[in-house]
Amino acid sequence: MPNNHNPDYDVVIRGGRVVDGTRMPSFVGDIAIKNGRVAEVGSVTGTGREEIDARGLVVAPGFVDNHTHYDAQLNWDPYASQSCWHGITTVVIGLCGFGFAPCRPEDRERAMQRMTRVEAIPYEAMKLGMRWDWVTQDDFLRAFERAGIGVNVASYIPHSAIRAYVLGADDNKRGEVTPDELEQMKELVREGYRAGALGISTDQNLIDRDYDGGMLPSTIATNDELEALVSVAREFNVGSMEITPANMHIGETEIAQLKRLFVVSGRPVIHNTLIESAHLPGAWKRALDHLDAANEEHRIFATAVVHGIGSLFSLLEYNLFDDMPAWNKALACPVEQRIANLKDPAIRELLAWDVANHLNRVWSGRWNRMRVRESELKQYVGRYISEIAESEGKTPLDAFCDIAVAEGLRTMFYIEDQINSDDKANAEIVAHPYVIPGASDGGAHTQFLSMGKYPTVMLSKWVRDEKVMSLEEAHWRLSHMAASSIGLEGIGTLERGMPADIVVYDLGKLRVTPDEPYYEQILGGGKRLIEKAEGYRYIFVSGVMTFKDGECTNALPGRVLRTAAYKPKIEKVAAE
Ligand SMILES: [Zn+2]
Repeated sequence: MPNNHNPDYDVVIRGGRVVDGTRMPSFVGDIAIKNGRVAEVGSVTGTGREEIDARGLVVAPGFVDNHTHYDAQLNWDPYASQSCWHGITTVVIGLCGFGFAPCRPEDRERAMQRMTRVEAIPYEAMKLGMRWDWVTQDDFLRAFERAGIGVNVASYIPHSAIRAYVLGADDNKRGEVTPDELEQMKELVREGYRAGALGISTDQNLIDRDYDGGMLPSTIATNDELEALVSVAREFNVGSMEITPANMHIGETEIAQLKRLFVVSGRPVIHNTLIESAHLPGAWKRALDHLDAANEEHRIFATAVVHGIGSLFSLLEYNLFDDMPAWNKALACPVEQRIANLKDPAIRELLAWDVANHLNRVWSGRWNRMRVRESELKQYVGRYISEIAESEGKTPLDAFCDIAVAEGLRTMFYIEDQINSDDKANAEIVAHPYVIPGASDGGAHTQFLSMGKYPTVMLSKWVRDEKVMSLEEAHWRLSHMAASSIGLEGIGTLERGMPADIVVYDLGKLRVTPDEPYYEQILGGGKRLIEKAEGYRYIFVSGVMTFKDGECTNALPGRVLRTAAYKPKIEKVAAE
């Protein structure tokens, strides 16, 4: 008989199908948890203070989302929703060169402004929600520990933040830096490593812009500067580096750059993100071939979205046309000016030219997959732009601009095929050896996109319904591979001694819900798209339950995950 007065373990999860994240075949068995770690796996004879009946359920490692922008949101939402609703127990932040550390107190305002356009994080939410009780990278990570978090957090060292710190927050139009400035930046990268961060992250893509529509610090930086900063990795030999390159479609130039960054750093290089785009047929396949060939002598991974993505937007705030120069110029300005631009036939001509010729962009450019979703002009609601254009005898671009202008840019449009609309391609992409599922961008673009659901899609669609891969393979990818590829060690499997980050779910019932995302109000009055999940029964972080049947327990067991290069500032504490 179990002795519940003097239990052997904190929790025992009994009789589930254990998929341990190592890619070994699954088995029916028990998992015992003690002091936040997996204490036993198999047939557990001892008892738990809490006993969970997992018969008929899958027991697997919590998921690792290695591309998010929760840097701000974690200040007011310690669970990183919506990722937490989809079984994610670890989020990685500081990606794409963006972050809030290091940051001097007088530059805080500017740092928040920077995130408003590039990641479309509402300024009001940041203004109200950010604690700003840090300056250095080490302080920033410790601040999460002080406040408490509901998921684990690991961080990159953001290039734009480093650059802004050394050059001054507003000196982001200068490409060249002095040798002395470069040395200061390298020292901040070292500080990042000593704080336990993974390595440099950067962004060279024009879709990502500063609040005024101008270049980001990392975009204007020279390649020499980037390589000098990346080379600091050689002094530590931990983690990885992450880049969102000028062109997300991996061609000859891009793969050469990724290889070069590996040679300079000696660490895995993560490309963000490998996409399938309808206007570039076969580009995704060539990208996979490039990855295969490059990995003969280099170590390069790509993150990828595992499902088709739509995009809901109005031209009052949309930033995802910024990778087309004429669109960026016409739309990155005050609303009155934007309306005037969109009325101007000469500017419309430039916009049309970009759609026809600027093919490195993300959007497919297919007007027959963009429709009017909400509008005061009822005659247009639900119709595709191409069809409206035909019935009115104008070009699709004219139809699009006319509708938006007619109601002061308030029209909500929906792009059905933003990226990855070809499921045949997706099936190949998700199973590729050098592709990491994810690229959720969690915490960013939340009013246009919803990508935090990817683990639920991976398991329900690609494993259960389409049988593209085994459950063992999917769990290995979602947890251990996602962590290990970026140099995050010691998480992602359910072997004895590992942190007890665990999901327990019903594979038969797993699904994203509801069928279409809905809006929820956020801090400061903004809005975001929401998609939740059904089928997750229990989620544990460090052995403590954070969600039960979708309900948050309010526990804050999350940890800051640091690399082996972490050097706690013991002397400093002793001297104070
Ligand atoms: Zn990003």
